[in-house]
Amino acid sequence: MSGCATLILAGGSGARMGSDVPKQYLDLCGLPVLRRTVTVFLDHPLVDNVQVVIGEEDKNNYEAAVTGLDLPDPVIGGITRQASSRKGLEGLASTNPDIVLIHDAARALIDAATIDAVISALDLNHAVLPGIPVADTLKRVLGDTAIVSDTIDRTTLWRAQTPQGFRFDKILDAHRQFENEDLTDDAAVAERAGTDVAMVRGNENNFKITTQDDLERAKTMMSSSMGDTRIGTGFDVHAFGDGDCLTLCGIEIDHEQGLEGHSDADVAMHAITDALLGAIAAGDIGNHFPPSDEKWRGAASYVFLEHAAKLISDRNGSIANIDLTIICETPKIGPHRVRMQESLASLLSIEVSRISVKATTTEKLGFTGRNEGIAAQAVAAVRLP
Ligand code: MG
Repeated sequence: MSGCATLILAGGSGARMGSDVPKQYLDLCGLPVLRRTVTVFLDHPLVDNVQVVIGEEDKNNYEAAVTGLDLPDPVIGGITRQASSRKGLEGLASTNPDIVLIHDAARALIDAATIDAVISALDLNHAVLPGIPVADTLKRVLGDTAIVSDTIDRTTLWRAQTPQGFRFDKILDAHRQFENEDLTDDAAVAERAGTDVAMVRGNENNFKITTQDDLERAKTMMSSSMGDTRIGTGFDVHAFGDGDCLTLCGIEIDHEQGLEGHSDADVAMHAITDALLGAIAAGDIGNHFPPSDEKWRGAASYVFLEHAAKLISDRNGSIANIDLTIICETPKIGPHRVRMQESLASLLSIEVSRISVKATTTEKLGFTGRNEGIAAQAVAAVRLP
C-alpha cells in the first residue's frame, strides 16, 4: 500500500464558458487552470502521486498544460463524471493507495489547509468531503414563469466541494457496484453504497471555475495575492566560430557560421535565463550550471531555461512577461521571430503574448557591428505571492 493518491478530473468541456478550449486549459494568470490545480497537489507533502483523467480529444491540450510536471500518463475518462471517476480509480488500482482524494480540475484555488482537513478526517472516517453551509435563503422556482413556489429550509444544507477523500478500496468498490447511476459527485457514490460521509468545512475560495465570470473572479483573486512584482535583466554574448548553423531561442537557424560556447551557445536563451534568475535574486546561469562542469558541454540551453522557470514556480510565482533583444548584423531574426516566441512560450508554459522577441543591429559599430558575434539582452517581470 502506498499512502495518498489524488485523482484530478479534467474531462469536462468548455460549454458553459462559451470557449472552444475546455475551461481547465484556459489561462489563469500565466498558467493553465489545470496546471495550477495539479501543482497544488504535487506540492502537498501528504500527497504521494497525482493521476489526471482527461477527455479523449484533449490529449494535446493536456500535454501542453502539464509539460515538465512529474505525472503518469493521463487516464481517458468516460461520458459522465461518475464514469470518469471510476476509470481514474481503476487506473490507480495497481498502486493500491490507502486513501484517495478526488478533485475537480476546475477548482484551481484549492488551498493546502482544505487538503489537510480532508486527509486528517480520513483517520476516523471512510469518506470525507469539504463544504460550505448555505448562507443565502433558498427558493424553489417552478416552470418558465420564474414564480417562486416555496422557500426551502437551509439550516441543514451545505454546498459540496472537492477534494473528496475516501479509503481507496471502499470508493473503488462503491463505484464498481453503482457504475451506471450518473451521480454528480463521489460522495454520492459512497452514500449510495451505505458509507457514512463526514463533512469538514471547506474554503469559500475553492470554487469551481465554470463561467467566464468565475474565471475573471479567479484571476482577480490570484492577482491580488501576487502583488510582489520583480524585474530581472540578463545579458550575454557569444562569438561566431566554425559551423553552418546556430541556435537562438531553441530554434536552429542555417548560417555561414556557428556560435562558440560551452553549451549549445544559445545566447538569447542564456540572456532570458539570467533575467528570470535575476528577477528572483537567484544568482546567474553560471552559478547553476558551471562552465567548468563537463556535464554541460554541448547541453541544450532549454535545460537552463526550464530550471529558472522551475525555481519561479517552486515559489508559486508566475512570469508576467519577457522582452528579448537580439543584437547582431547577421543572421536576420525577423523570419524566425514567431517560431522563437512559440518555442519560448511552450518551454515556459506561458502565453505567446507574454513574450516579445526583438532584433537590432549596432550600425556596424563594435563587435556585433563587425559581425564577430551575437549579443542578447532580456528583461523579465515575475510575479510572486
Ligand atoms: Mg552564454
